[in-house]
Amino acid sequence: MIAEVIVDIAHGEVDKVFDYKIEDGNLTLGSRVEVPFGRQTIEGFIIGLKENTEVPADKLKSVIKALDEFPALSTECLSLAKFLKDRYHVPFALALRQFIPAELRGGRVKQKIISFVSLNKEISPFEMVSSLRKGASAQANAIGFLKQEVRCKLSVLNEKFGNSAIKALKDKGFLVVESEKAGRVPYKELDSFSKDVILSEEQENAIKTIENTQKTVTLLHGVTGSGKTEVYLRLINSTLKSGKTAIMLVPEIALTPQMLGQLRARFGDNVSILHSGLSVGERYDEWLRLKTGEAKIAIGARSAIFAPLDNLGLIIIDEEHDGSYEAETAPRYKTVEVALKRAQLSSAKIVLGSATPSIDSYDKALQGEYDLAKMTSRINGKDLPEFIVSDMRLELRRGNESIFSSDLKQELKKCVENDNQAIIFFNRRGYSQQVICRDCGYVAKCENCDVTLNYHRDTGVLKCHYCGSAYRMLSACPECGSVNLSYSGAGTQKIVAELKKLFPNETVLRMDNDTTRNKEGHFKILKEFSEKKARFLVGTQMVAKGHDFPSVTLVGILDADMSLYFSDFRSAERTFQLLTQVAGRSGRANKKGKVVLQTYNPENTTLRQAISYDYEGFFKGESAMRKSTGFPPYALILRVMIESDDDGEAMQTLKYVYEDLKQIYQENTQNFLFFNKMRSPVKRINNKYRYQVLMRLIGDYENIKKRIYQSSLDKKTNKTLVYVEENPSNLY
Ligand code: ADP
Ligand code: ZN
Ligand code: ZN
Repeated sequence: MIAEVIVDIAHGEVDKVFDYKIEDGNLTLGSRVEVPFGRQTIEGFIIGLKENTEVPADKLKSVIKALDEFPALSTECLSLAKFLKDRYHVPFALALRQFIPAELRGGRVKQKIISFVSLNKEISPFEMVSSLRKGASAQANAIGFLKQEVRCKLSVLNEKFGNSAIKALKDKGFLVVESEKAGRVPYKELDSFSKDVILSEEQENAIKTIENTQKTVTLLHGVTGSGKTEVYLRLINSTLKSGKTAIMLVPEIALTPQMLGQLRARFGDNVSILHSGLSVGERYDEWLRLKTGEAKIAIGARSAIFAPLDNLGLIIIDEEHDGSYEAETAPRYKTVEVALKRAQLSSAKIVLGSATPSIDSYDKALQGEYDLAKMTSRINGKDLPEFIVSDMRLELRRGNESIFSSDLKQELKKCVENDNQAIIFFNRRGYSQQVICRDCGYVAKCENCDVTLNYHRDTGVLKCHYCGSAYRMLSACPECGSVNLSYSGAGTQKIVAELKKLFPNETVLRMDNDTTRNKEGHFKILKEFSEKKARFLVGTQMVAKGHDFPSVTLVGILDADMSLYFSDFRSAERTFQLLTQVAGRSGRANKKGKVVLQTYNPENTTLRQAISYDYEGFFKGESAMRKSTGFPPYALILRVMIESDDDGEAMQTLKYVYEDLKQIYQENTQNFLFFNKMRSPVKRINNKYRYQVLMRLIGDYENIKKRIYQSSLDKKTNKTLVYVEENPSNLY
């Protein structure tokens, strides 16, 4: 038999199939193998099997051995990997890697083995104890303990009685040691709680629509608090009952402890959590539990779409509009595209859930490509929270220079009086933003990236949010020597400080990138807040996500305008989504909620639509605008990026890329709304100079797109990286 092998080197030059002879009958499609490659041996994947090869017999080498006891990739996953490679133009090896935990490559993890100890039954405990020398009390105690417990983990015994005592007993032949493979189950400490609920009529109808649809995808458009999670849980339940498996995707696993808790409560060890914050071993074990069929539900962020499940029946993408579903490094996949392919391969259904669907998805639902299920009211029967708009221009004129409007202050006060909780949403981090010299206008910038630095008060340093570099705070302007430096803007820390001034007796929690560094950072904060250990939660985007805190009756949005100034074509969409999501945290249980929204732009159309919860109106306006101006989903934005440590090299490559693309452009001008080469808006990130060719295409552009990929990707050199982005979320 001949195996077609892709070697595990994600490099264009070795991105082809190599033939090897196999003698081991266990090797099959999807097996990981060790093969000779040049003078070395290397890991690879079997992606095909055949009887004959063109390779002459004297040149044909044999597979050395299998790397796992089972084929790591199912045939379905192999097909999906091929799709990834073709669709996103990446080396096959890179596509294949998505399906296995990184730790498996290079044999860096092994199954964890747990040793259990019991007494040797052939010797009576009495005999054992009497044979011990006097003073060996630890050994005697261990025997007594084991007599009672019968069986115990070796590690526990060692801890209780000391390694030397246990070793002595082993040496005497008193103990029997058995080893078992262990599954390391993460998040044991999750509060698993299960609510027994009767479905609302809307929930029942949504479930019926999804179960009866002939279409692959159903968009579940349910307002915040309409009970989407319960719909997911029921769907997963019936999927499992029919003998199939399910994947559930969430934007960020660390922000969903409540969802995880409910899944655990209902499905126990059937749930496998795929999370980058897990330890190496935990991650591998979770993967293995899915692979072996021990667990049947995979939950995780976007990469969980590659979970090693057989017999897939359901894929849920919660908060489908979230930007995190687009990968920003190769392979630059859109999760929903991959999900669609995977669903086709295994005849699974897809549910896209959101209170604010992306323009793209809603358009597909209206066009009939997706089915549409709607839930328009909150489970608690209450109206969606009422918005109070604070015009910050008036506040200033009235002499209120604080970060909080007078309305917000008043509502905060009421919130405290009624013993409720409030969330304050703010879209930036750090105490204050840029450092500017008031005399010469100098602005502190990162040395590696061409962006301004942010001052972080707690650590007293200037940080770059693009590369993470930290700089010592300036005492004087490096340009003119002036000490008249200003720290403009406000950040989450400043808000916390202001809140504490207003309410000295209340506890405030802060949640942003700075307070959630470590693995359990998010969990801890969310848990404390849900246990009402704090009155206020101040935070960035993270506080906007799906949280369900019953006592929160007030949400303050401090700067509703920020995202309106983004230059991205999606900025209105993002603003609408963000405002709706944050507002949706308020009034979810038996008390009605309020939202105070501070703005300098109260007339702004997107704001008006958001505060009246007019998704349909927003969609109509936004989609009409994008149609007439030629923006996605009615057009395609392509950005060819060129990055290099060496500015000259980058410019040279840009020139070559541009020459070929210009050819394509000139042959198809009617399909191009825009075509230009330029420096990227952020000229340098992490010491890499960045250039781009930006294009906007309309009409029938599939073939043009393929040509653009082909003629740009082959311009990559050892020193410059070239890649293509489709409808990128960030154009920095
Ligand atoms: P969404 O994700 O749509 O914003 P959730 O799924 O978080 O909403 O549900 C909101 C709240 O309603 C949760 O506390 C949930 O437990 C509760 N809930 C959901 N369905 C029901 C039901 N049928 N009866 C009672 N409570 C429900
Ligand atoms: Zn200066
Ligand atoms: Zn930087």
